[in-house]
Amino acid sequence: MNASVNLPESSLQLLTELQSSGLRLATPDAEGLSRRGGAGPSDHKAVVIDGVTLMVPVHTHGARASGFVANAPDANGVSVLMRGSIPVAPIAFAKTPRFYKLQTLDGVPYSHIATLHGTDVLATTVLQTCIRYESRKKACKFCAIGQSLAAGRTVAHKTPEQLAEVARAAVLLDGVKHMVLTTGTPPTPDRGAAILCDSARAIRRAVDLPIQAQCEPPDDDAWFARMRDAGIDTLGMHLEVLGEAERARIMPGKATVPVSRYMSAFKAAVEVFGRGQVSTYILAGLGDPPQRVLDIAQQLLALGVYPFVVPFVPISGTPLEDHAPPTPEFMRSILAPLGAMVREAGLRAADIKAGCGKCGACSSLSSFEKVAA
Ligand code: SF4
Repeated sequence: MNASVNLPESSLQLLTELQSSGLRLATPDAEGLSRRGGAGPSDHKAVVIDGVTLMVPVHTHGARASGFVANAPDANGVSVLMRGSIPVAPIAFAKTPRFYKLQTLDGVPYSHIATLHGTDVLATTVLQTCIRYESRKKACKFCAIGQSLAAGRTVAHKTPEQLAEVARAAVLLDGVKHMVLTTGTPPTPDRGAAILCDSARAIRRAVDLPIQAQCEPPDDDAWFARMRDAGIDTLGMHLEVLGEAERARIMPGKATVPVSRYMSAFKAAVEVFGRGQVSTYILAGLGDPPQRVLDIAQQLLALGVYPFVVPFVPISGTPLEDHAPPTPEFMRSILAPLGAMVREAGLRAADIKAGCGKCGACSSLSSFEKVAA
């Protein structure tokens, strides 16, 4: 989880710039632990700067041309972040977790079942297949859910038993604090809610670990109570893109579920999970103007939903791999006012029980929430 300190203006600027521009690794051995593929945005590496954990793009085209560069870390995992040849700040890289060395009795490496995000989050894509992804024409253009499967870095369906085994090891060996269960969307009306319930039940039987589940809005709001009863603490339903035209262009399959359905699902989910325990991911830089993002964020906050706005990261191998990431100025024009709005609504990242909003590493939003008014 990110530090609870107020950051000076120069640090906020640095974090926003680094997340937009990406980081060049000067030597291959600086590569270490990074996140490629999976559902939603990826191609990141976890770093810690000024006590803040941040996922920074390292495998993208843009990152290879970034003005930020870091050498291989020393024995303590620390290196120096340089802007060109000028040292800017100490930078620490997340260490490879101990549970990555283990495998199941039938020979599946634990790292193919779940991975470490940030420094203390265990994350998995329970179902690595998606109805939206069956045809590239209908798939979300930013998503790489099929790539890590094709590359043999993961398994298509992680069983509840496998997830429970890995979660227990990650808590015992690496002290992970919460878990994210995301999923590709199966061809069933529950949109994956049943699979997430089965997974959560098994994990909670094995270990005391707060869980966030992430899926599209299910057909029936009764699923929210079932998810809570299965041991899920928080829920993410991710809008990603907001404008009708942009949704149809960037995620034609997912856009068949209208924003109005997300809004009614948010309202029903907040009644079950509580204010601030339901969230959505919004990808900034895919065509939605800042004012639209802020207007929708205001509606979400009024419903009690945490609007986790992250900079779009173009992932290699996806149709958007050459799409420019948002500039630091663009991100700032959203995150600075949004940070104040979130604070005023009393829905801060720090109060979320589990999941992306709590981790916060894919955006500098939580740092903007802490800026004194
Ligand atoms: S914010 Fe979510 S996707 Fe990003 S590193 Fe944290 S848990 Fe993973």
